[in-house]
Amino acid sequence: GKPPYDDANIFARILRGEIPCKTVAEDAHALAFHDIAPQAPLHVLVIPKGRWVSAADFHAEAPAEAIAGFWRLVTMVARDLGLEESGYRILSNMGADAGQEVPHFHVHIFGGRRLGRMVP
Ligand code: 5GP
Repeated sequence: GKPPYDDANIFARILRGEIPCKTVAEDAHALAFHDIAPQAPLHVLVIPKGRWVSAADFHAEAPAEAIAGFWRLVTMVARDLGLEESGYRILSNMGADAGQEVPHFHVHIFGGRRLGRMVP
């Protein structure tokens, strides 16, 4: 079965306010903040406010309103950062083969430069 959610993970600690972050946007369902080690001029992480490790968990267990709110914040952030015209990339790592470091579901938003083709 899937591993249990680890309440000590770094994003859980950020959500509890135990660790600071540079907030970009927040609502009842999700939090967006700058990645601590940006891989592009704009590199923002968006996390749902719930205990989900993967996209599958989030989809299966989160209320529809939370899922809608999460994607609303992702697209709002991209728009508010001025990325709609230039373009941007959304990416999410799931599990070992993708190198997921933080076991709390999140998407990366990358933008602000030509990103090149994403290939494995
Ligand atoms: P993953 O590989 O799990 O998709 O990516 C985790 C991301 O979280 C990495 O890009 C990493 O730089 C970022 N990160 C890890 N710890 C922290 C932290 O304490 N604060 C912030 N803002 N980002 C973090």
